Amino acid sequence: MTSPRYKRILLKLSGEVLMGEGGLAIDPAVTARVAEEIADVKAEGYELCVVVGGGNIFRGLAAAAKGFERGTADYMGMLATVMNALAVQNALEQIGVDTRVQSAIPMQSVCEPFIRRRAERHLEKGRVVIFAAGVGSPFFTTDSGAALRAAEMNCDALFKGTSVDGVYDADPKKVPDAKRFETVSYDTVLARNLKVMDASAIALCRDSNIPIVVFNIREHGNFAAVLRGEGTSTVVQK
Ligand code: UDP
Repeated sequence: MTSPRYKRILLKLSGEVLMGEGGLAIDPAVTARVAEEIADVKAEGYELCVVVGGGNIFRGLAAAAKGFERGTADYMGMLATVMNALAVQNALEQIGVDTRVQSAIPMQSVCEPFIRRRAERHLEKGRVVIFAAGVGSPFFTTDSGAALRAAEMNCDALFKGTSVDGVYDADPKKVPDAKRFETVSYDTVLARNLKVMDASAIALCRDSNIPIVVFNIREHGNFAAVLRGEGTSTVVQK
């Protein structure tokens, strides 16, 4: 049974969720497990968009701090997201989920370019559409790419799959009694600089009134459970 609130959702995956213990940037077994979580949700009838980050391979800001020119570094980061998108596509297709990758940077031998109406058609046909290369411009992040795609694809919610089970009032790794929010407003997230997504992504979701559901995607079955209203998460909303 699908959630009565959400029909079409966008899943944002940080590149890091594809990493394994052995230091592989893209661990095939870990990627396969993430694909299973996506397939389980797809099987319940949701229309699903996916945006993948690239932080497991390359981050423009970090590279710029070490001397790279920022624009070039950011393009390298965007290319990293395309590699991750292909890895997720591969893992999904190996378990029978029909997918398309669309990149904000056209790369026609590799995947489709981003064309909104074409993406719409893929979703209608039951395909999972994986959006790569963020917004296609440097000085942005894939969080902003996720918020933008969620808005233009008319998604009912943006699910942010991470390695923590929600948003806390302090870093739970440093502050033992940090409290997890069940719900928190966009404005509180921005005012308190809570670590959810970058500010431009939060503002875009706020302006389009798209709830952001932060949950742990590494926990087996959790994505589907959160959608059923059972798992642990934090919802960022008005
Ligand atoms: N990036 C960019 N423009 C975008 C999206 C991403 O320049 O629209 C670059 C940026 O350098 C970023 C890198 O791609 O550091 C990888 O994306 P991100 O850090 O968002 O990945 P995540 O943290 O989600 O794994």
